[in-house]
Amino acid sequence: MPILAIGLRSPITRGCEFLLLPASGYVRAWRQGYNRQAIEEFVRVLILSDIHSNIEALQACLLAAPVYDTVVNLGDIVGYGANPNEAIERSRQLGGYMVRGNHDKAASGIMDLSEFNPLAGMAALWTRNQLSEENLEWLRQLPQGPIHIPELPQAQFVHGSPIDEDEYLVTAHDAVESLLSAPVPLTFFGHSHVQGAFSSYPGEEGSLRPVYASVGRTEAVDWTLEEDRHYLINPGSVGQPRDGDWRAAFAIFDSDRRTVTFNRVPYDLKTAQERILAANLPPRLATRLSAGR
Ligand code: ZN
Repeated sequence: MPILAIGLRSPITRGCEFLLLPASGYVRAWRQGYNRQAIEEFVRVLILSDIHSNIEALQACLLAAPVYDTVVNLGDIVGYGANPNEAIERSRQLGGYMVRGNHDKAASGIMDLSEFNPLAGMAALWTRNQLSEENLEWLRQLPQGPIHIPELPQAQFVHGSPIDEDEYLVTAHDAVESLLSAPVPLTFFGHSHVQGAFSSYPGEEGSLRPVYASVGRTEAVDWTLEEDRHYLINPGSVGQPRDGDWRAAFAIFDSDRRTVTFNRVPYDLKTAQERILAANLPPRLATRLSAGR
């Protein structure tokens, strides 16, 4: 079980008190969530997030993914990378469920670019000019999270956080309020581009990051969920990881085994970078991909 637990024992005690009181209710909700009849259709869920127009990374993830029953896409399908139309079209083909990201909003004109840093703003404008009218309209209609899926009553799905779709959850401290207020045990989120999870249980809040054996091979790390905790789980970014690992990231949630499997996959980085440079997007958007930052 190569999982590293860091940052355990939060200075915030408010959460402990809250968690101690309704714990039996959480356990009950969790068990109901795993009622076999309720989840018969969706056992294995492919979780993708932050594809960011990187079609090479997306294809590598789809090739590496095991058999799954449905897909949930946590947003930021476009922005930064050079293949926005292809990323949208592949996502549409996959079907399943989707939540909008801030880059999806910016590129499709439903969010003001003034909230973006110059690099992200330039990429959003470039993306807007590349997208077909149909794909722009499709982006505009993506739902705001949290979304709930009838076949997965124990989970909710968001881009940033359950409280604010644009909020970054980076530290265990950032995650406390979302963990405590979540109406279901599992929240899948993206936006930070950092693969891993936060968990909460009486007296402790912690960050969990999968630990891999290599920096260049296809790898998976299985992680078993405990019954009496709330979790926030980030599958990592398909197309622009920022956790120091350049490989494309995704996760599989198995509701029957109660596991989350974190995955990292090498992809054709060179082609993705060359396309960014050929499109005259800022060169930094190409170089950061090899650093995973
Ligand atoms: Zn993103």
